[in-house]
Amino acid sequence: MAVRIGVYICHCGTNIAGKVDIAKVVEFAKGLENVSLVKDYKFMCSDPGQALLQKDVEDGLIDRVVVASCSPLMHENTFRKATERGGLNPYLFTMANIREQCSWVHIDSGQTTDKAKDLIAAAVRRAFLLEPLTKREVPINPRTVVIGGGIAGIQAALDLAEAGKKVVLVEREPSIGGHMSKFDKTFPTLDCSACILTPRMVSVGQHANIELMTYSEVEEVSGFVGNFNIRVRKKARYVDSELCNGCGACWEKCPGTRVPRKGNVHEKLSLGPTTPIYMPFMQAVPAIPVIDTETCLYFKDDKHACGLCAKECERGAIDYEMKDEIVEFEVGNIIIATGFQTFDPSVIKRYGYGEIENVMTALEFEIMNCASGSTGGKILKADGGVPGSIGIIHCVGSRDKHYHDYCSRVCCMYSLKYSHLIKEKTDAEVYEFYIDMRCFGKGYEEFYDRLLTEDVRFVRGKVAEVTDVPTCKAEEGKLIVKVEDTLIGNVRRIPLDMVILSTGLEGHATLREIAKKCSVSVGQDGFLIEKHPKLGPVSTATDGVFIAGACQSPKDIPDTVAQASAASSAVLSMITREKIEIESATAEVDEDKCSGCKLCNTLCPYLAVKFDEEKGVSVVNQALCKGCGTCVAGCPSGAISAKHFEDRQIFAEIEGIFSGL
Ligand SMILES: Cc1cc2nc3c(=O)[nH]c(=O)nc-3n(C[C@H](O)[C@H](O)[C@H](O)COP(=O)(O)OP(=O)(O)OC[C@H]3O[C@@H](n4cnc5c(N)ncnc54)[C@H](O)[C@@H]3O)c2cc1C
Repeated sequence: MAVRIGVYICHCGTNIAGKVDIAKVVEFAKGLENVSLVKDYKFMCSDPGQALLQKDVEDGLIDRVVVASCSPLMHENTFRKATERGGLNPYLFTMANIREQCSWVHIDSGQTTDKAKDLIAAAVRRAFLLEPLTKREVPINPRTVVIGGGIAGIQAALDLAEAGKKVVLVEREPSIGGHMSKFDKTFPTLDCSACILTPRMVSVGQHANIELMTYSEVEEVSGFVGNFNIRVRKKARYVDSELCNGCGACWEKCPGTRVPRKGNVHEKLSLGPTTPIYMPFMQAVPAIPVIDTETCLYFKDDKHACGLCAKECERGAIDYEMKDEIVEFEVGNIIIATGFQTFDPSVIKRYGYGEIENVMTALEFEIMNCASGSTGGKILKADGGVPGSIGIIHCVGSRDKHYHDYCSRVCCMYSLKYSHLIKEKTDAEVYEFYIDMRCFGKGYEEFYDRLLTEDVRFVRGKVAEVTDVPTCKAEEGKLIVKVEDTLIGNVRRIPLDMVILSTGLEGHATLREIAKKCSVSVGQDGFLIEKHPKLGPVSTATDGVFIAGACQSPKDIPDTVAQASAASSAVLSMITREKIEIESATAEVDEDKCSGCKLCNTLCPYLAVKFDEEKGVSVVNQALCKGCGTCVAGCPSGAISAKHFEDRQIFAEIEGIFSGL
């Protein structure tokens, strides 16, 4: 029986109809070979539009469907489903993109109409050769792994656990908590960070549905949506978590010191003990110390030179022979919540970080200001004195063509928070050096307004340099901030006792590694790329892998928590389905033609092609393959073909495009 193709032309309001002469295109399509009916409608994606094609299929008028409308990214699924509801295999439908590729990108409406005709002719030729594909489903393992135990990972894990689902939370540091555990107060409400964070940390540690793996890193991820295999390295803590009760006797007697970072305003700025055996901070979860083998005298020098911690531990929890452990488990979904690192300001030489005393980063200030930190929350200079004047420099590393173009979103707000905290704790004069204030969140502009009444000096201008070279008596012993005050149009030299650099947020140096393992991409800005910036902010191009928090972009805590809950509910909706449909249009290797060169193994962005050593040929994992066609295009032997995008179908399209010439 002859093929009967139905062509449906969408006006998309005036998006298409404003530039394409629909009546002419309809007439043209009617004349195409194998086309048995042509219809046009204002919005094909609307319910009546879909019903139009569904009914024609139901009535047996057509057995192939072409919709000429927008990009398949927008509505391929909509029309596939309408085709299927009509009773036809959904792969017997194809789209002609006469909006993004035509009406939106050309000015001359005569040429636009001609191009729409060509695109439809191409789609019709392709439709003629389409073949039905079988739908495939895989079961979903209800367990989820969350990578990263900052507030994003904590929230996502708790949401899932509370819904009765099993979660494994993998954190590479000895404790969960992330950056938030280093803060004393959080903007804009100034609530105590530990008071809101630690109850959640404790819940994670105690929840029957959460398996917590701290001081651990994901080494390998294999498998596909619903069925991932995870390999984790649990690093040796040298402290037996079953025996240790976190009493602190070990670090109290420890004679060593962990090397402090050069440039810190206080040599020993830290939240926890600075000894080689240490707890990261007092509310750590789990409350188990860890030995830093780089600085521990037992590991570093003669093994018998120390060993004091083992002698002090009444419970015999110190185990110098402990080894890393490899743990493997299966999950259905992955949430990446690995957060951010702060920009290293030592690369901006003119700000003197690491060279000049009392120039510190925002994170160092947070730690100093924290009640459980080494200064007990006191704001002090390196010599132990109380500063009489402090400058806060905004946008260090952000909104700067040399470093990061983007705005880090939280620096204006945390800088304002510092002004308030400094004023609360000291009599210091405070200067905020800003480009412009970005106070976008709920209660943020109000917080800024409040600071305007707290005797803070706001200087609008980018700081040129921070030096400790005086040019007059008033500058002696001071840091001098040179800045163009753009509001008064003058270059000013302001002598200060302390400078805080509001460093921007950036993707982790190691983010690419975890991204590669999970088959997701890192953008040019250094953060993970979401599936769609507006409509898929927590999904990724890899099914079953979700992202949450500051690993996707700089974020404050409210947005991080919201995104983490969004990621966990996306996972929950997958789990409750129990099965998931996977792509049918995948690639296949013709074993007779494959030369075994393995080029496709390296090209596949989804890590779906592996080499079968026994057969000496490459094999496509059908569950992982997305049908992107990269391997097909790259194969030098022409051994790989893509279902639904076969050579003959693509050549037919090309012929269709040129048929009007
Ligand atoms: C100086 C400063 C002050 C701030 N003050 C405020 C404030 O007052 N109010 C506010 O709303 N926001 C504030 N923020 C923003 C806030 O820090 C973030 O919104 C929040 O920390 C983001 O949480 P997260 O879980 O996404 O990332 P993080 O807090 O960075 O946590 C990520 C976690 O993942 C772990 N991890 C990383 N890589 C791996 C890996 N490969 N495997 C396993 N684990 C991994 C990390 O160790 C960490 O525990 C501030 C930010 C800065 C820099």
